[in-house]
Amino acid sequence: MSKIKVAELFYSLQGEGQYLGVPSIFLRVFGCNFQCQGFGMPRGQLSEERMAIDPEQYDNYESLPLVHTGCDSYASWDVRFKKLSPMRSIEDIVTKIQELLPDGKFSEDKHLILTGGEPLLGWQRSYIELFEEFKVRNMNLTHVTFETNGTQYLHQDLKDYIEECLDINFTFSVSSKLPSSGEKWEEAILPKVIQEYFNYSDLTYFKWVVSNEDDYADVVRAIEEYGKVCDMTRIPVYLMPAGGTTKVYDNNEKWVADLAMKNGWRYTPRLQVQLWKNAWGT
Ligand code: SF4
Repeated sequence: MSKIKVAELFYSLQGEGQYLGVPSIFLRVFGCNFQCQGFGMPRGQLSEERMAIDPEQYDNYESLPLVHTGCDSYASWDVRFKKLSPMRSIEDIVTKIQELLPDGKFSEDKHLILTGGEPLLGWQRSYIELFEEFKVRNMNLTHVTFETNGTQYLHQDLKDYIEECLDINFTFSVSSKLPSSGEKWEEAILPKVIQEYFNYSDLTYFKWVVSNEDDYADVVRAIEEYGKVCDMTRIPVYLMPAGGTTKVYDNNEKWVADLAMKNGWRYTPRLQVQLWKNAWGT
């Protein structure tokens, strides 16, 4: 059986988007194609905050410091921290998930979230084995969400599986990276990738963090670009307030809520900030 490099595996509430508040298993896999060093920085500048953290000082995710600039999941892709993310067999992962779930089973209201890093980068075929192992153990998995940055095409095996699997609903929650991330537009906004996700799941949706008028203008531009190949009237857009800390978040939320209403988009709070201050393992 395959192994997956697991950064974090925990049970929490989905904090954002379509399934806000749904109790969920989060499987955070290691690896990302981006670094998103621009978050929280003046435009054009990149954060080096994570580089000041010495990996030798930490032996688990819970003890890692939170960062206020750059990607807040840095340890799930920065190779300096890879020792914190062991390769785990599918059987081991499923056994751990059985222990984490209150009665050892998923349900309509207990979902699986595959997140990262970028979960569609390297483990797509391993997920098929994972889903099959849930079936072997009668764990009643009905909802899977891929939390993706929207840059990775689907492997043919995963496409075939999604098409043939009638008992699992697959959702692509796409948080494509706008210029505030520091990533290049032409590498981050890939309409044909989203078209593919939507072809395989009409539960696909976007969610974007916005903190100022520049971010808002970038959301509008991204929707225009996606609209050249995707029917954006059928793909929901969620806006979220920026801020991994409650203070920044509180300053943003009303403005973002008004923006969502003005444009007929959806608004989602970020429960993990409100409830747990964005701590690892939430
Ligand atoms: S795409 Fe997501 S996980 Fe990857 S660096 Fe950017 S914010 Fe972090």
